[in-house]
Amino acid sequence: MRYVSTRGNDDRPEFCDILLGGLAPDGGLYLPERYPQVTAAELAEWRELPYAALALRILQKFITDIPACDLKAIVDRTYTARAYSHCRPGRDAGDITPLTTLEPGFHLLELSNGPTLAFKDMAMQLLGNLFEYVLDKRGEEINILGATSGDTGSAAEYAMRGKHGVRVFMLSPDGRMSAFQRAQMYSLPDSNIHNIAIRGMFDDCQDIVKAVSNDAAFKAKYKIGAVNSINWARVAAQVIYYFKGWFEATQSNEQQVSFCVPSGNFGNICAGHIARMMGLPIRRLVLATNENDVLDEFFRTGIYRPRKTAETYVTSSPSMDISKASNFERFVFDLVGRDPAVVRDLWAKVESGSSFDLGGTPFKARLPGFGFVSGRSSHADRLATIRDVWQRYHTMIDTHTADAVKVAREHREPGIPMVVLETAQPVKFAETIQEALGRDPLRPADFVGIEDLPQRVEIMDADVEAVKACIVKFCR
Ligand SMILES: *Cc1c(COP(=O)(O)O)cnc(C)c1O
Repeated sequence: MRYVSTRGNDDRPEFCDILLGGLAPDGGLYLPERYPQVTAAELAEWRELPYAALALRILQKFITDIPACDLKAIVDRTYTARAYSHCRPGRDAGDITPLTTLEPGFHLLELSNGPTLAFKDMAMQLLGNLFEYVLDKRGEEINILGATSGDTGSAAEYAMRGKHGVRVFMLSPDGRMSAFQRAQMYSLPDSNIHNIAIRGMFDDCQDIVKAVSNDAAFKAKYKIGAVNSINWARVAAQVIYYFKGWFEATQSNEQQVSFCVPSGNFGNICAGHIARMMGLPIRRLVLATNENDVLDEFFRTGIYRPRKTAETYVTSSPSMDISKASNFERFVFDLVGRDPAVVRDLWAKVESGSSFDLGGTPFKARLPGFGFVSGRSSHADRLATIRDVWQRYHTMIDTHTADAVKVAREHREPGIPMVVLETAQPVKFAETIQEALGRDPLRPADFVGIEDLPQRVEIMDADVEAVKACIVKFCR
């Protein structure tokens, strides 16, 4: 399988060539040259497979430059009951992503049972093992530099801890994450993990990452890499659980399922789009946003209007607080018939700080064929939904999942199962759970008391040179 850039780069790399990088050299995002198709026979054979075996079947369609036996060892090491042990009482951790039925035809797909209790583990854990494998083969090292406001940083650190050839430098805004999130990251004892708290906001952290990455000489000398959500391998790994969820919610291959996905950077739901393009019988992809509704606006109107950073709301579903959706270009590439010239045009507008409108173009008319519908949720909706799901089903959900449940209810259709992707556990957002339910969320046993563990973090001003000096210091 070869990969193409959404902006038309024609070097046609393979999977391992793009694994360690971020953007394509032309500024676009990579996608497979064509989507591999699943046959009815494959669907029939895959239905009963355990998660790791299913992952191997799907990933083999995207990864043709790692021998099957090596890839099998990697997925077997990644998707273990031990790593995904944080499931609800009575569920089988070996399912990796168990399906919880709230009422007939309405389900939660639990994606947050991994080491950091958010769905980002599903892909990041695989990425950690793939990185180690490819770096070892090539005798190379990498320094991952990232910025986080919470979930991404901890998922990356837990995935990369102790990995040969990998160091992580993770910037976070000093004092702005929850005590639980700080403890998750800062208490890791591994010598290849470096936490840097920046006196500033998340955007200051992000700007430093960009400045360091734009210094081509420094980037090359210190082998700076990224694991942000535009990484193709992360999207590919997320395709797997759409298949898994579809099998769990159906009895036969003719049945359709709709998925509702709480969305920020469009990474998670982009994987759903790809599963649908591969032939998985997905009826609708229901996209849920919070108050930051740039994507809801697009799917309702055809207008994509990225917000200014200052226009981004700080909400109680913080992992969806985005001003523009970094993976969205992948979908638009397909929507415009994979014409890179059109994508270049549209993103020239986006990058100059303006918007684009597909209304009146043939692309707007094609939109319904891709199955997307959307909706938004507010803080009040979130509280009401958490309360309702608790009272009605005795199931506690986090704030992001609540946004999705709210929007999913608006798009249910008779006879079509609706699967809501559960993207985090409530314990990560305890303050809002308290507000909604007047009680603390349950905490998995191995997270009891983590706030009291010793923490390792270096606190710095928002200064690019200071961050570079820190990287240099640990690379000696
Ligand atoms: C990252 C994240 C999201 C948003 O996912 P995208 O792939 O950015 O759309 C939703 N919920 C939680 C809990 C997250 O951590």
